[in-house]
Amino acid sequence: MSAPKARFEALAALIGAQNVMGESKDMAAFAEEPRRLYNAQPSFVLTPTSVEDVQKIMVWANENAVAVIPQGGNTGLVGGQVPLDGGEVIISLKKLKAVRDIDPATNVMIVEAGTTVLETQQIAEEKNRLFPLSLGSEGSCQIGGILSTNAGGTAVLAYGNSRDLCMGVEAVLADGRLYNGLSKLRKDNTGYDLKDLLVGAEGTLGIITAASLKLFPRPTTFETALLNIENPQAGVEVLEMVRRKSGNKVTSFEVLPTLGIELQIKHGLAERDPRASASPWHILMEYSLFDGEEPGALMSTLEALFEAELISDASVCQSLADRKMMWLMRENYAECQTREAEGIKHDISVPVKNIPELIERGDAMAEKVIPGIRSFAFGHMGDGNIHYDFLAPIDMPKGELRGHAAALHDGMYEIVDDLNGSISAEHGIGQMKAGLLQQKKDPVALDMMYSIKQALDPKGILNPGKVLSRRN
Ligand SMILES: Cc1cc2nc3c(=O)[nH]c(=O)nc-3n(C[C@H](O)[C@H](O)[C@H](O)COP(=O)(O)OP(=O)(O)OC[C@H]3O[C@@H](n4cnc5c(N)ncnc54)[C@H](O)[C@@H]3O)c2cc1C
Repeated sequence: MSAPKARFEALAALIGAQNVMGESKDMAAFAEEPRRLYNAQPSFVLTPTSVEDVQKIMVWANENAVAVIPQGGNTGLVGGQVPLDGGEVIISLKKLKAVRDIDPATNVMIVEAGTTVLETQQIAEEKNRLFPLSLGSEGSCQIGGILSTNAGGTAVLAYGNSRDLCMGVEAVLADGRLYNGLSKLRKDNTGYDLKDLLVGAEGTLGIITAASLKLFPRPTTFETALLNIENPQAGVEVLEMVRRKSGNKVTSFEVLPTLGIELQIKHGLAERDPRASASPWHILMEYSLFDGEEPGALMSTLEALFEAELISDASVCQSLADRKMMWLMRENYAECQTREAEGIKHDISVPVKNIPELIERGDAMAEKVIPGIRSFAFGHMGDGNIHYDFLAPIDMPKGELRGHAAALHDGMYEIVDDLNGSISAEHGIGQMKAGLLQQKKDPVALDMMYSIKQALDPKGILNPGKVLSRRN
C-alpha cells in the first residue's frame, strides 16, 4: 500500500473515513485563504466530531511526527490556518459545536471551538445577554479561531479583545493529553495563566476545543452617528472629549477616510451616501445604553463637539435600518479597496495620541516610494489599531505595486517602531509576519517564546513555522 493510502487508512480507522479528506478538490475550501496569498497544499483535511477524536489524531501525529494545522473558519489574514511547507494535515474544528453550559447568573457560557462568533452572539441573546465581540468575519470565524488569534474588532474600546472575553479554555496538547481549564472564575490566582498562553498562540501550543466566555448585559438602545472631522488629530481630540462626557457609553470609535465612502459609491456597494456633507475624514461612533438609561446621550455630546469646533457636521442614525446601513458601510472598507485597485496592507497599532503622527509620516513615506499612491488608513482609532493600507495610483499597471511592497513595509514598520507601536495589532503573525517578528521582537521575549514552544511541543508538530520561524 502507498504511504498516503496507508495514512488515509490509519486516520479513517481513528475518526471514520467520512471525516478524512485526501482529494485536492474536496480540500480546496480549506487550503485557500481570504487573501489568496498562499497556495501550499495539505496532505489531508480532518473534521473530527468530538474532543476524543482530536486527542486520537494528536496521539497519532505525535507518534508519527506529522505536522498539523488547526483550522477554524479559515478567515485569518496572515496565513496561520493554511499550509506553509505543503503536506501538513489540517484539523478543522468545524464539527465541534456543542453549547456545554450557559449560566446567566455567573454571566458565563461554555461553547465548543467550532461555534461561530455569530452563533455565539445568538445563543447569548436567547438568554438576554451580550457576547460583545463584533467583526466583519463573524458569520464564519469560530471561537477557537478568534481566541487563537486574540481577535479584536469594533467593540474592543468597551469590552476588550478576545483574550479579555475568555475565562478559560480546554485544549488538546501536542501529545494528545487534554488540558481542562474551563474556569468560570473571575478570581483564580493559582499560578501561571495557561489560558493566556493558549490564547493568541495561533495553534502553535495546543488545539483549543472549548472555551468559557464572559457574557454582558444587553444594551437596550444604540445611538450611532457619522461625524465629519478635518483630520486625525481632531479625531483624537473628539475621542478624549467623548470619553470624558460619556464614560463607558461609547462602545465603538472608528476613523474613516472619506475615500472609502467614495469608492463604495463608485463600485455600487453603498445603498446611499451616509455622509451629512463632504469632509476629508469621518468618525463612526456608537453609544450603547442600558436598561433605565435615558436616550439622548449622543446628541448632547454632539452639541459639545460642535461648540468646541471639533466636528463640522454629523449624520445621526434615526432607525435600526440606518444603523445597519452605517455598519455595512464600515465593513465595506475592505471590499471597496479590492474592487478599486491592488493594495498593500498593514495591521498596526500605536498609542492613540500618536495616530496623527503615524498617518502624517506614513503618507509622506509612501508618497516618496510611489508618487501618487493612495493612502487608505482606517480602523479602530479608539484602541489605537489602524489598518494602514495603500492603493495603487490610478494609472499604475497591474502587478507593479507588488514590487514596491518591501519598501512600503520597511518604511511603515520603522515609523511604527519610532512611535512605540506593534507590527500586528489584531490579525496575528501566522506565516506572513514570522520573519518580521524575528527582527522586531525583543530578543529575550523571543527566547522565552521558543522555550515555551519547546516545552509544550517538543517535536514541533503544532503549526510549525507559524509565529516562530524555525531555528537551526
Ligand atoms: C472580512 C474579514 C474581516 C475581519 N475583521 C477582523 C477584525 O475586525 N478584527 C480581527 O481581529 N480580525 C479580523 N479578521 C481576521 C479573522 O477573522 C480573525 O483573525 C479570526 O479570529 C480568525 O478566526 P477563524 O476561526 O477564521 O480562524 P482561522 O483563520 O481558521 O485560524 C486563524 C489562526 O488560529 C488557529 N486556530 C484556529 N482554530 C484553532 C483552534 N481551535 N485551536 C488552536 N488554533 C486554532 C489557526 O491555526 C490559525 O493560526 C477579519 C477577516 C475577514 C476575512
